[in-house]
Amino acid sequence: MAKKEFKSESKRLLDLMINSIYTNKDIFLRELISNASDALDKLYYRSLTDKKLKVKKDKLEINISYDKDNRTLTVSDNGCGMTKDELESNLGTIAKSGTLAFKENMSKEEKANIIGQFGVGFYSAFMVSDKITVTTLSPDSDSAYVWESEGADGYTIKEAKKDEIGTEIVLKIKEDTDEVEYSKYLDEYELKSLIKKYSDYIRFPIKMEVTHHELKDEEKHEYEDHKEIETLNSMIPIWKKAAKDVSDEDYDNFYMDKFSDYDKPLKVIHSSVEGMTSYKSLLFIPSHAPYDYYTQEYEKGLALYSNGVLIMDKCAELLPDYFSFIKGVVDSEDLSLNISRELLQESQGLKLIAKNIESKICKELENMLKDDRDNYISFFKTFGVQLKYGVYNNYGQDKDKLKDLVMFYSAKHERLITLSEYVSEMKEGQESIYYASGASVEKIGALPQVEQVRDKDYDILYLTDYVDEFCVTAIQKYEEKSFKNVSDENLDLESEEEKKETEKANKDNSDLLKDMSELLDEVKEVRFSNKLKTHPVCLTTKGDVSIEMQKVFDAMPNDMGIKAEMILEINEKHPISKKIKELYKKDKDEFEKYSKILYSEARMIAGLPIDNPTEISRLICEVISK
Ligand code: ADP
Repeated sequence: MAKKEFKSESKRLLDLMINSIYTNKDIFLRELISNASDALDKLYYRSLTDKKLKVKKDKLEINISYDKDNRTLTVSDNGCGMTKDELESNLGTIAKSGTLAFKENMSKEEKANIIGQFGVGFYSAFMVSDKITVTTLSPDSDSAYVWESEGADGYTIKEAKKDEIGTEIVLKIKEDTDEVEYSKYLDEYELKSLIKKYSDYIRFPIKMEVTHHELKDEEKHEYEDHKEIETLNSMIPIWKKAAKDVSDEDYDNFYMDKFSDYDKPLKVIHSSVEGMTSYKSLLFIPSHAPYDYYTQEYEKGLALYSNGVLIMDKCAELLPDYFSFIKGVVDSEDLSLNISRELLQESQGLKLIAKNIESKICKELENMLKDDRDNYISFFKTFGVQLKYGVYNNYGQDKDKLKDLVMFYSAKHERLITLSEYVSEMKEGQESIYYASGASVEKIGALPQVEQVRDKDYDILYLTDYVDEFCVTAIQKYEEKSFKNVSDENLDLESEEEKKETEKANKDNSDLLKDMSELLDEVKEVRFSNKLKTHPVCLTTKGDVSIEMQKVFDAMPNDMGIKAEMILEINEKHPISKKIKELYKKDKDEFEKYSKILYSEARMIAGLPIDNPTEISRLICEVISK
């Protein structure tokens, strides 16, 4: 039979694998064992509804054996096996879930990270073997098949003989080199300790023949080797153990294995709940966003077990969207296995668990914010957008749960703070929580409107994420204080005297201002103002839609035509005001040019595009060449 080629990306990944850039080779064993365990889970779960399948739970197991002379290591299971098609699609492609962006000039570490991220599972066995032979029989197939490969140049699939349903994987272990002693994977003691270290929690027995040194004759000091099949793992899932019996390293290893992450989790939340519906849960906050987190392919959810049987890999109902980054396991004996998954997903028991889990996560995050701020900030920088999205999503119905978890950049402290911290520092007479939005902290800091507020020593929250303004708008009020955009037209920070002055200036020049606003299409109104300190002009808005919100709407695929009502404000104390007043009297043409230039300046400062840049630059040149 002709050799089949691996898909090209798989081939490249395999090359990297074989050339062993992933330094921790030991993990291949846990990958094979965890595949075997999944296969046992699948078969058992199927047997609950498919009565033709005769499966005894206590007969399901994983076997490990080795042969030093032939340098083979065998991992076998009596799980679901694979049909010919399954063999082809499962072992002929790597990383089905995504496109591997391999770049030529990537460092060793970067490549290793990619491999870790994709959790290449089965293929990691090529790190330690020259040849892999997989013999498998599925209950859906009349014949068994054997898949064989010596690495990157391809694989073959042939019919084979196998009596029992399940899979047997034989690895031909590489010869030792100066750097790596591959023979350790043929050593009883090594294998035992690797299994104990990485696969102890697997809920099916992992069996191997073990040698016992037994004293035969005490006087003669004679020993006899005695061989016995033993179960090497404790089979207690880590989430069922008491937290005090689990080390940090155990949690980390479990997380990295189960959720294919190359980094330790940022936080572990292990709990056991007794009540109407009892359950145990082990949740993790990843330290970075999963590689596919921002893609359509990402599925949220927790692994759901009942009575030690895996029901669903990713039960989405257990997590609200704003906690979609949480990984973990839930095990409840109170969930009925005899109903369909669909009904289970709708069940009251499951809803109750979901509710508990949500408040547990909220509580843990609150504690982390209180007691371990640095870690919280690192968390927030990674997943904060998700929480802010949660605040305004679904018409803000969840905002009360989340409003104390969101943080914004404070102009005064130059770091992230919470709303409660902002409010507790509000000055006497300060009515509102001030915020300003823009593309970056630097850009917001340079906004003319910011200066006036900062001059009065009020703190301002700088909103730099596109969701931010929608988030504060959804919160509406925090501890009775409402939010106020510093770019709002009626900021109301002037003294009575200043207000009178401005009013007079606007009244005295009403014709000029009206004519100017007619020259500028998108502008609702032009006015003189007192709030600008050193700056000549700025744009403010009337009503609910701010300039930053308009930018978000503009960027949406279906333009709904939602526009901010813009006001052009001109600094009455700036020399430019005198100039335009003169021009208005003497030279209307020139007045028109100045108006357009000033408006474009204000747009630029607000980060809005200039629609007619050629015309504006021509106007500027005309004016400055005089
Ligand atoms: P992953 O386990 O992350 O899906 P792997 O490369 O480890 O990726 O395995 C690919 C697929 O091959 C598995 O999803 C599973 O369908 C199948 N497979 C691997 N090992 C076994 C096994 N022992 N029994 C049945 N199917 C298996």
